Amino acid sequence: MNTPTLNQPEEPYWFKCADCNVSLHIYANNFDEAKIKAIKCHWTTYITDDGDWLWKCPDCSDKIKNVITEKIKTHQTIDVTEKNKIFDRLSSLLSYKPGWSNGEGIAFTKETVDLAKNLCNLAINHGMINLSISAGISGEILISSYLENNITIELFAESDNTITYAFAKDDKYIEYDDKTSIDIIKQKLNIINLMYNNV
Ligand SMILES: [Zn+2]
Repeated sequence: MNTPTLNQPEEPYWFKCADCNVSLHIYANNFDEAKIKAIKCHWTTYITDDGDWLWKCPDCSDKIKNVITEKIKTHQTIDVTEKNKIFDRLSSLLSYKPGWSNGEGIAFTKETVDLAKNLCNLAINHGMINLSISAGISGEILISSYLENNITIELFAESDNTITYAFAKDDKYIEYDDKTSIDIIKQKLNIINLMYNNV
């Protein structure tokens, strides 16, 4: 029989804000548990292209909310009542003419629509089935996914075909990453699936 982990002493883990150098000191049984505790303390996490984790303190993370709020101010939400209609609705964005939103709104490109479909597939494959779409006047498409525990994942297929990612819990943004890649999104969704979707 293995020794129960209950009796193992917790070890200290340090998290340092990448923006302001404030540190967070957490005791946990292992690094994965320490990361979850840091996130619960409203620390933001980023995964770099090298696979390293970077962190931001709550104060520096709060700036994210303003960025996102500004970003989606002009979005029109597309009501998708049936999940299997999401892809049809994404395709339908190709028929939007310039000026589709009260004279504003540029046309959507096939590349952006395809990227949005790709992101939808990724979200669905990671157990995120409660999705909604909104269309931005700058030609970007937002896919929002609503998880248990009041978590929202926002994936933007940008008009320049880059990806923006945001993670919110209890209406508070705790992670934001722009110009990120499909591979990084996969890593993030894997972690989210493990940490939140199956509990
Ligand atoms: Zn900070």
